[in-house]
Formats: sequence, structure tokens, C-alpha cells
Amino acid sequence: MTTTSERSASSTGQKTREIDAVVVGAGFAGLYTLHKLRGLGLSVQVYEAGDGIGGTWYWNRYPGARVDVKSMYYNYSFDPELEQEWEWTEKLPPQPELLRYINHVADRFDLRKDVQLRTRVTAAVYDESAARWRITTDQGEVVSARFAIMATGCLSAPKMVEVPGIETFRGRSFHTGNWPDQEVDFSGRRVAVIGTGSSGVQVIPLVAETAEKLTVFQRTANYVLPAGNHAIDPEFQRDIKSRYREVRKANRESSFGIARPEATTGALEVSEDERNAFYRAVWEDKDSELVSMLTGYTDTLTDEAANETAAQFIRDRIAEIVTDPAVAELLQPSGLFGVKRPVLGTDYYATFNRPNVRLVDVSATPLTEVTESGLETTQESFEFDDIIYATGYDAMTGALDAVDIRGRGGAALREKWADGPVTYLGLAVAGFPNLFTITGPGSPAVLSNMLVSIEQHVDWVADAIDTMRSKGVTTMEARADAEQEWTRHVGEVGDMTLYPKVDSWYVGSNVPGKPRVMYAYIGGVGAYREKCDQVAADDYDGFTLAR
Ligand code: NAP
Repeated sequence: MTTTSERSASSTGQKTREIDAVVVGAGFAGLYTLHKLRGLGLSVQVYEAGDGIGGTWYWNRYPGARVDVKSMYYNYSFDPELEQEWEWTEKLPPQPELLRYINHVADRFDLRKDVQLRTRVTAAVYDESAARWRITTDQGEVVSARFAIMATGCLSAPKMVEVPGIETFRGRSFHTGNWPDQEVDFSGRRVAVIGTGSSGVQVIPLVAETAEKLTVFQRTANYVLPAGNHAIDPEFQRDIKSRYREVRKANRESSFGIARPEATTGALEVSEDERNAFYRAVWEDKDSELVSMLTGYTDTLTDEAANETAAQFIRDRIAEIVTDPAVAELLQPSGLFGVKRPVLGTDYYATFNRPNVRLVDVSATPLTEVTESGLETTQESFEFDDIIYATGYDAMTGALDAVDIRGRGGAALREKWADGPVTYLGLAVAGFPNLFTITGPGSPAVLSNMLVSIEQHVDWVADAIDTMRSKGVTTMEARADAEQEWTRHVGEVGDMTLYPKVDSWYVGSNVPGKPRVMYAYIGGVGAYREKCDQVAADDYDGFTLAR
């Protein structure tokens, strides 16, 4: 390992800065990585494409954006003072509050000085002779680092619609994941929203309040549960803060990174009345959580008949809220519940009762073109002033594929992953020594409270680097057999659930041509953490450590 001081090398005549670690991305993952590695005495450079820090919470500034994990659980746990001093204001914090929080963390731990904004990493190429990563940015900078840490986010490569003409539209275009910095006024305008996933469900009710006319283009109806957001109960905040260590431990050992009472019965083992009483309690409880409906019974995610009981309960609620029966029917999902990302919404279904809102079913009449003045479907031409693309992301691998990552022998990561990502623990890849992917494909990541998974990965990587240093090890590299076995396991555990049965970004089916595999590990964050800890305890079993 290099020393912690920065030096200059000049193998090619051009000066290349040498540091210990490059971190790509300054969201929650990248900033915590910087803090941890700095604590080990490493020299670290973080590159961030945005004008500001915050990652997801920097880019997703659309009206209504908020996290759907409770604020008290969706924050860093690494510093007891930080978790005590920050006061959350809402059950589910909105984007501006999350951005304030992350900026507070950056200032508190003096992180900004090692973050270079407005800089996109374009390539990371492994130099075998030097055992270092050569990182290139779009600012023409080249830096050499012992470690390359990809904290590029799971949902950070926006996806547009696959129809021609997007650039020809003469009105204003927005993607929810790349929203402008300043407030956007929709009053008096004819607005289209394409997409009814988490982002669309959040933005639609707010745009409907001001737009003259809002047309929602829905391809697949989603199950939307009431967010039940409210000002945080001060007593709840005090209580959690008074026992944060115990709360954090329980979250880390849970399935989804949010501790819940363990279900003991299947949905079909109880009477219909009992089942519906449970679903109604979750639906009406202002303190329920996204996972409440998923984890109430043992078999919701594994048995189609059990799943259908929850699905039907939600369909019935939609029919109660939406006054036009034809619109209600379109909004009622027909597929499995919860295995395509379930969504929390505020007044979502009621929005379709407004006279200025129209729902267009693009599964029956697909979009064919974006025109100068609006959108075309197979049946109709629409004129708009604004189009909002709430069309999601090339999830899990999109942001990694966007960087030209080349390992041993110049092999490209995107080619290695042509049939789907192959990783060891979602953290490391054979042929790419000292490259770590924070919440990478094959880890629980998006199937968990992201903050729990981010901290677990960053802590694990920092411990690994510290161990390497103490043992005089230069490189750590996943073994091909270990990553094959892990990737097989990720798929096998996925196949024990209903997830692969449904089209969703969890299996890559939202991006044409993307391999259909399970992109995240559904084995649970608790079990996954144990596995990672065991690997470390067994002298990094499955990795090759070289001096
Ligand atoms: P998404 O869940 O992938 O939804 C994209 C939507 O766009 C879907 O309704 C999709 O229809 C539609 N769509 C895509 N291409 C289309 C096309 N060519 N024609 C018509 N419709 C098209 O994306 P997202 O809403 O941005 O959410 C992504 C993930 O980000 C979420 O699942 C969640 O994990 C995270 N997120 C979380 C929050 C939160 O915490 N509250 C908020 C926003 C996002 P199909 O379903 O038919 O593909």
C-alpha cells in the first residue's frame, strides 16, 4: 500500500497524481466512504458529477420527492452525537430535508475539501504492473489510486422512453431523476407525466394541483399504499434516540433493514376477516411502513394465492376512492403485489377524481413518438407545454456501465456482465482487484433500507483495507469460483420468491435488452451481513490477497 501522502509520478511524461483511493459519487455512500477511509489515514479523492453533494437526494428535486423509510431509520448510525443532534421534522422526510441533512454531515465532518464537484469519472483502468487504478475524468484529469470505490448509486442512470423524437419537443422536458435546481411552475400549463412508479406517484398529485391539465400516461398500474406522512411525533423521536443502539442493531439484523415483528403465520392460515382486519390496520395506520404489508404474513412474497389476498384488498380500496369506475379499473393492478417495488403515495388515487386530470392507458395504446408539440400514441395525438418523464432508471448496473471500467488484461466490466452482473457479495469482481462496489448488484441494496446497507458495505470495505495494510497485502481480488457461487446463490434465493415472476427493474426488464436476472440479493440484510462478516473472519475467504 502507498503512503498516505500524495505524490506525483511521471511514467508517461504526464504528471499523474497518486493517491490511495478514488471514490466515485458523493451521495450517502460516497461521503461515508470518504469519512471512513480518511479515518484510516488514507488520501482520498471523491469525484461527483453534480453541482452539489447528495447523490439521489441532490438529483431528485421534483415536487413531492421524499423517502419512504422513516426518518429515524434513514440516517447515518456511525456517529452517536450526529444521530442525537439532528432533529427530523417528518415521519418520511422530504428531499430538501434530506439534502440539508447530508450537507450538515459534510460540514460536520469536514468532507467537502476532498470532494470535486462537476466532475464525471469516465474511465477506470487497472494497471497490472503497478497494481493501481488509473482514473480519468471528463475534466481531463488523470489520477492513480490503489483503490477504486464505486459509490455510484443503484438508481442514478435515468432511463427515457424508447420512442423517437424526444429531442424534438419544443416545450419543457424534465426527468424526475434530473430535476432543475430552481422551482418549476406548472400553473396554467398542459402537462404530461409518463410513468407511475414511485417517482410518478409522488409528482402527479402535486403537479395536478397547479397544472391547467395533467395527462398521466400509465403502462402498468402500481399498488400504492397510503404514505401516512405527518409531522414527527416528538415522543417517538425521543424514544428512538434514547435506545438508538438497540434500534440500529435490530435494523441491521432484520430482513429489509427495518426491524419488524417476525410474521409467524401464512396469509391463508387465518380467516379472511382476520386477514382483512390486518390489511386495513396497515392501510389506516399513520405509523405503518412500506414493509408492513409485505412482512405481516410469512408467505406474501413466496405464495401467489397468499399474495393475491393483499393485492385484492388494495384493489378494493382503489375502487372505493376513485369515482369513475372505468378509471378505477385502469388504476387497479392485476399482477402480484410487492414484488415490483411497492409505492407509498399521498392522495394519489384521489388525484384521478380531479376534473383536470386524465389517465391514458399506454399498455393498450402505446406511445409511438414524442413530437414537437407533444406525444403520439397508437390512437391519439396530444399537445403539451411540459413533459415529465418519470420513467425510472437503468438500475443497479447503469451507473457502473457508464464508466469504462477495465480490469486485468484490459477486460471491460460491461462485457464481463453482458449476461448479467457477476459479483462476489455484490462488493467485488474477479479480474478487478481493489475495486469495490458499494451496494453493488448481488447485494441487498435496493431490497433494503439503503442507509443500513450502505454503512454495512463501507464498514466492511474499510475493515478489509485496514486488514490489508496490517498484513502488508497490496491487492484483494474476488476469486472467480467464489463469485460464480455467490451469483448462483443470488439467483437461487430470488427463485424461491415471486420476484422473478414479474417484470420490474429488480430483474432488469424495464430496459430493453438488459439481461433478466435478479439484480439484488433477497436473502435479507441480517443474513447477508453474517455472511460478509464470516468471509472476513475466515481471512477473506473467496478473495485472493497478494503482497
Ligand atoms: P420506475 O419504478 O421504474 O417507474 C417507471 C415508470 O415509467 C413505470 O410506471 C413504467 O412503466 C413507466 N415507463 C417506463 N418506460 C415507459 C415507456 N416507454 N412507456 C410508458 N411508460 C414507461 O421508476 P421510478 O418511479 O423513478 O422509481 C424507481 C425506484 O426509485 C423506485 O422503485 C424506488 O426504489 C426509488 N424511488 C424511491 C422513492 C421513495 O423513496 N419514495 C421515490 C422515487 C423513487 P412499467 O411499469 O410498465 O415499466
